[in-house]
Amino acid sequence: MARNPEELIRDELRELTPYHVADAAGMVKLDAMENPYRLPEHVRERIGCLAAEAEVNRYPDPAASRLKGRLRTVLQIPAEAELVLGNGSDEIIQMLMLAFGRPGAIVLGVEPSFVMFRLVAAFCGLRYVGVPLCSDFSLDTDRVLGVIRRDDPALIFIAYPNNPTGNLFDRASIEKIIEAAPGAVVIDEAYNAFAERSFMDALGRWSNLLVMRTLSKSGLAGLRLGLLAGSPAWLRHIEKVRLPYNVGMLTQLVAEEVLEHDAFLLEQAAAIRSERGRLREALDTFPGVEVFPSNANFILFRTAGAQQVFDRLKSRRVLIKNLHGSNPALENCLRVTVGTPAENDLFLDALRHSLA
Ligand SMILES: *Cc1c(COP(=O)(O)O)cnc(C)c1O
Repeated sequence: MARNPEELIRDELRELTPYHVADAAGMVKLDAMENPYRLPEHVRERIGCLAAEAEVNRYPDPAASRLKGRLRTVLQIPAEAELVLGNGSDEIIQMLMLAFGRPGAIVLGVEPSFVMFRLVAAFCGLRYVGVPLCSDFSLDTDRVLGVIRRDDPALIFIAYPNNPTGNLFDRASIEKIIEAAPGAVVIDEAYNAFAERSFMDALGRWSNLLVMRTLSKSGLAGLRLGLLAGSPAWLRHIEKVRLPYNVGMLTQLVAEEVLEHDAFLLEQAAAIRSERGRLREALDTFPGVEVFPSNANFILFRTAGAQQVFDRLKSRRVLIKNLHGSNPALENCLRVTVGTPAENDLFLDALRHSLA
């Protein structure tokens, strides 16, 4: 007789609830930092032909060599750096945790930040230590350095810019952390297209610096492609926990094709950055709304009765993200993804009618 799964499932998993994705059918979807623009017609046609020709009866290239070559050029990855590809950067976070997950290993993150750092640590049985940010969402560098000395973390995750706060941390503070860290420091640059600041060019300076990128926020969220760049001494071990065919043939083909014509991605990112400015200025005129600075494709703001504002927006078919209750620092905070000019106008109009 089989035992009750509750007796067999790991303790730390039993308490977790599955990652929730809100139903967005029929909504103006401004909750998940997707690029609102589709691929240009000529690229879509090319992809149609490539997909029709693809030999999907065969396994994909396990090394994804052609795709890696394109990524190196387009993302300006230093030649000395090694690359590991993932089915989204979420999978890379998982690979890192699996590779560094010795018994008792500690992962350090800051709070609030990307929830996957904490969640995946729990999935993989590592202990996660979250160091609170300062009240203005800047890094509390002394506190981080103190926890590094105390807990000897094998892995440190820093999102640059940070999600859900949107800001870029001070570069010199991050450099101090890299220098003090006994293990790897992963700079998660998911929002690089909107930040124009990067640690990619610093890879040669510190062997324990790893830079993570994803194509999700710049227009290919449905494709699932993330990458980790860093010194071969560290990445060759991460590569061992990568499942051989984690990046499918169609993902490889589509990403290669898109990167071949990447000028439109830069144009779309520029349009989103300019809309971010307009959205911010408009939000600033709303009474009782506190807007936080953003270097990403979303804006965090605080307003009294955030839960009610969120519900009212939803009843007007505008879906954003409610962060109230997720962390004490995010009390009454909402996060809106920058959409097309028309979507942003719909959001602003709905917000005008939803504020208390
Ligand atoms: C969205 C996001 C990711 C996840 O990206 P995928 O490549 O889609 O898995 C990683 N890090 C941060 C900070 C994000 O906001």
